[in-house]
Amino acid sequence: MGKVIAIANQKGGVGKTTTAVNVAASMAATKRKVLLIDLDPQGNATMGSGVDKFEVDSTCYELLIEEKPVEEVIVRETTGKYDLIAANSDVTAAEIKLMEVFAREVRLRNALQPVRDYYDYIFIDCPPSLNQLTVNAMAAADSVLVPMQCEYYALEGLTALMDTIKKLASVVNPDLKIEGVLRTMYDPRNRLANDVSEQLKRHFGSQVYRTVIPRNVRLAEAPSFGAPAMYYEKSSTGAKAYLALAGEILRRRNQTTTS
Ligand code: ADP
Ligand code: MG
Repeated sequence: MGKVIAIANQKGGVGKTTTAVNVAASMAATKRKVLLIDLDPQGNATMGSGVDKFEVDSTCYELLIEEKPVEEVIVRETTGKYDLIAANSDVTAAEIKLMEVFAREVRLRNALQPVRDYYDYIFIDCPPSLNQLTVNAMAAADSVLVPMQCEYYALEGLTALMDTIKKLASVVNPDLKIEGVLRTMYDPRNRLANDVSEQLKRHFGSQVYRTVIPRNVRLAEAPSFGAPAMYYEKSSTGAKAYLALAGEILRRRNQTTTS
């Protein structure tokens, strides 16, 4: 059965979009069928997948507000070899209009129903806030992947975020799990980053992925070429780290289904 993973952290600039695009491509490279949903009106995941947000026919807006069938809003086979549901500034209007519609929290969940089992993995790139779009992502997802930077106050922020996810889940999706906590933009020479990383492992134990995403300029450059890092520079440490993450996600899933 397909698995839906929301990539969320209400803080901006922690590597949500970079993770969404690169983990989707890495998972697709393992021959899994993958859909990436860009829920952020900034449309960075869309552009990073080689799809022009200014030219695209349909976005999450049509899916969530006009209730256009999901098959009609999917962009097939992006540069990362996964399918995409795009976002652009129209999605800002969706956020506002969602307030007025019936069953507003479960619009995305219902909309995805027809393709949920076609895909092995559906990743959702969330906006950097806890708005109605993020609530829709939490309601549609099986689990949440939380990217974070190991910096001062990160742990405090993470604990608050976990509480918020739990509260939200109790209302819209009691089965929601924490998929894992991912350390991003990691610089092993930074002593504070190492300290925070140790504290993180003490607090969150096995929920913290073993895979660490290093700070790597190729990851930052790849979006301007409209492709995930593995199709921009395959041998980069960033591309390799996201391939390792996809492997870890697959292994974790096998462990939980066989035990
Ligand atoms: P978010 O979606 O959480 O706002 P992004 O993925 O857009 O975060 O990342 C914020 C900025 O940091 C972007 O410019 C991105 O290219 C850069 N970035 C993200 N991850 C890395 C990394 N591992 N190494 C270097 N730059 C990164
Ligand atoms: Mg983003």
